[in-house]
Amino acid sequence: MEAAKIAIIGAGVVGLAVAAELSKTNENVYIFEKNGRFGQETSGHNSGVIHSGIHYPNGSLKARLCVKGNAMLYDLCEKHKIPYKKLGKLTVALSTEELEELEKLMQWGTKNGVPDMKFVGSDEINQMEPNVNVEKALLTPSTGILEPDELMHHFYEQTRKNNAVLATETEVTNLITVDGGFELSGTSVGEKFSVTAATIVNCAGLGSDRIAGMLGLDIDALGYRLHPCKGDYFRVAGKPPVKMLVYPVPKGAGLGIHLTPDMAGSVRLGPNAYYVDRVDYEVKSSEKEFRDDVERFVPSIRDHEITPDSAGVRPKLQGPKDGFKDFVIRHEADKGFFGLINLIGIESPGLTAAPAIAEFVNDIYDGEIKR
Ligand SMILES: Cc1cc2nc3c(=O)[nH]c(=O)nc-3n(C[C@H](O)[C@H](O)[C@H](O)COP(=O)(O)OP(=O)(O)OC[C@H]3O[C@@H](n4cnc5c(N)ncnc54)[C@H](O)[C@@H]3O)c2cc1C
Repeated sequence: MEAAKIAIIGAGVVGLAVAAELSKTNENVYIFEKNGRFGQETSGHNSGVIHSGIHYPNGSLKARLCVKGNAMLYDLCEKHKIPYKKLGKLTVALSTEELEELEKLMQWGTKNGVPDMKFVGSDEINQMEPNVNVEKALLTPSTGILEPDELMHHFYEQTRKNNAVLATETEVTNLITVDGGFELSGTSVGEKFSVTAATIVNCAGLGSDRIAGMLGLDIDALGYRLHPCKGDYFRVAGKPPVKMLVYPVPKGAGLGIHLTPDMAGSVRLGPNAYYVDRVDYEVKSSEKEFRDDVERFVPSIRDHEITPDSAGVRPKLQGPKDGFKDFVIRHEADKGFFGLINLIGIESPGLTAAPAIAEFVNDIYDGEIKR
């Protein structure tokens, strides 16, 4: 392999989107992925929701890149015939406290530029979703769904068209700085490999703190240490109880157990949120936890069979006792690593934000690194 101009570590939706964008105007772009195929980690284990942007404080990267990514994704899906459904979402309030929380989401959404939001009362809710039994909800029509693998396939095809190379079964286990950039080494299809690169974009998801640590960055002092936070899903059997996305107000580390239709029309419950020490995708939560939670706003859920479905693991910067933490997306030149762009803590809304993150990284590259 010739020396890479840009080495992207990780082929999830973010690494692929970044590769598709950077390879438009740059040669010798390589993507290194430890698994045998792209999208086998977080990007292949999520809800597939195109979020509107109501959940993040104004001015945060999460807010900006989610709202921008939402609009970009719908354009992209239209232009490239990627299937999607703009179903709209109801966020429901079940107590006076939750009504205040709903007001806060409305304020954040307004400041963040989320289009067409409005509060709806029980009559309107009943017309839209007869099985949802609440007095008040926040309607966000710009929320939708897509199949994440279709989106990743699109970005992958773009990278191929632009002559970027995806090296699968290639795990980066060591990084050092060398003259003019970095040397990456590890194993590729069972053999040792090493390659130099002028620029590294760390899109390693749950492994992104480890990648940053390989270069000697103090991930604890910098607040880069990840706290993996798992979410399980259950699938609802029989006639789908809802057509739209229906969420409670967020609580704890997740968005609350919600109902999300998938592209096939079937509905999943989840994800819940619990911190874990190691990453696995086995559903370990109880059916009762899910049923009890959802029964509060969709009572008919008690008539449905629900079965364990799948799980995902969030690469969270926010530990169990922390408040909101934003995405880290930055060029680490000020720490002595010219040419290193770290992306750490890219949890939800990372799927929605992916095309906007890619443009953001491209702007950093063009403005600060490209010579
Ligand atoms: C339960 C759950 C539900 C979610 N729902 C939504 C949603 O509905 N909407 C939304 O917008 N977002 C959602 N998200 C967030 C979204 O899934 C993520 O933000 C997004 O997938 C992150 O993509 P990524 O490419 O950064 O990470 P990943 O998909 O994890 O990709 C990182 C890649 O790096 C590779 N890698 C790691 N270390 C190395 C190494 N040393 N060498 C080589 N390769 C390496 C991994 O194998 C992996 O393929 C959800 C997340 C979870 C967990």
